[in-house]
Amino acid sequence: MMAHKICVIEGDGIGKEVVPASINVLEATGVDFEFIYAEAGDEVFEKTGKALPEETVEKALESDAVFFGAAGETAADVIVKLRQILKTYANVRPVKAYKGINCLRDDIDYVIVRENTEGLYKGLEAEIDEGITTATRVITRKACERIFKFAFELARDRKKQGKEGKVTCAHKANVLKVTDGLFKKVFYEVAEEYDDIKVEDYYIDAMNMYIITKPQVFDVVVTSNLFGDILSDGAAGTVGGLGLAPSANIGDEHGLFEPVHGSAPDIAGKGIANPTATILSGVLMLRYLKEFEAADKIEKALEEVLAAGLTTPDLGGKLNTFQMAEEVAKRVEK
Ligand code: ATP
Ligand code: MG
Repeated sequence: MMAHKICVIEGDGIGKEVVPASINVLEATGVDFEFIYAEAGDEVFEKTGKALPEETVEKALESDAVFFGAAGETAADVIVKLRQILKTYANVRPVKAYKGINCLRDDIDYVIVRENTEGLYKGLEAEIDEGITTATRVITRKACERIFKFAFELARDRKKQGKEGKVTCAHKANVLKVTDGLFKKVFYEVAEEYDDIKVEDYYIDAMNMYIITKPQVFDVVVTSNLFGDILSDGAAGTVGGLGLAPSANIGDEHGLFEPVHGSAPDIAGKGIANPTATILSGVLMLRYLKEFEAADKIEKALEEVLAAGLTTPDLGGKLNTFQMAEEVAKRVEK
């Protein structure tokens, strides 16, 4: 087996702490990695005038996956650009309750799949007259088919692991009749190719309530760009918040894995950042690389560490970033 080539971008702030700590955990699995380090973010911008140097883009394109920490002020020029360059059209955010964490319920376990390329985040804003501004919401059949297929395939994979096998589509087709009309229509078209998977759809406003009132019924939730952005932060809040939330950006050729949180300048350099979100992003990366056994090992080790309260201060523990990651690594090696 060839080593997996991983482009590592620590970036700014706590990225410089949570990424190396998580790499210790990845290395403990014994999986063969070749880590290729690259710079991006505020610091390299101050040095060179470029937040995302050409060299970094090349390294990212040549790698099997990108493992990313955080970018501060320059985030839009770094992570948003990288997602575009790597054509990662699916943003995947697991929402899972771990023991030892203060969650809404202990049986929450679903995944939000957010369309990452269009919708209201297409960047088509204009001031058409003084005091009159617009934003264009782009929904295309092509992007819908792609994201729904991704969601259904994910539901199929999860069904093999004992999950329900259901995809829930969240939209606002009653008001956004044309754009979300298409979104909903294509959802049910794609669903016909997956008769082993259950389907349902909700209006996004109702969905926002259901992730609080009945989060245990969801398996895979798929939605458009802005709705997914908002829904997934709320969902993260139901299972312990930002320090725990991992994400994957997946396309046909590339994958980028990053914690949902940013550079957290308020705690950067103190060694107290929680590495969990980044470790779990590493778990997503391992599954993407088809290293399922190693992924399960890390997740199980992390579950033990969280349940034992061997955590950073944000979760009530006394450990620093590297010590917490070390507790996980130790259990992975066993
Ligand atoms: P950025 O502009 O880079 O997003 P931010 O100021 O918005 O920076 P975030 O990283 O988004 O900061 O974090 C928001 C809050 O959550 C901060 O108070 C931060 O300390 C806290 N936080 C974020 N990540 C972690 C973590 N891994 N461990 C502990 N606390 C965290
Ligand atoms: Mg932030």
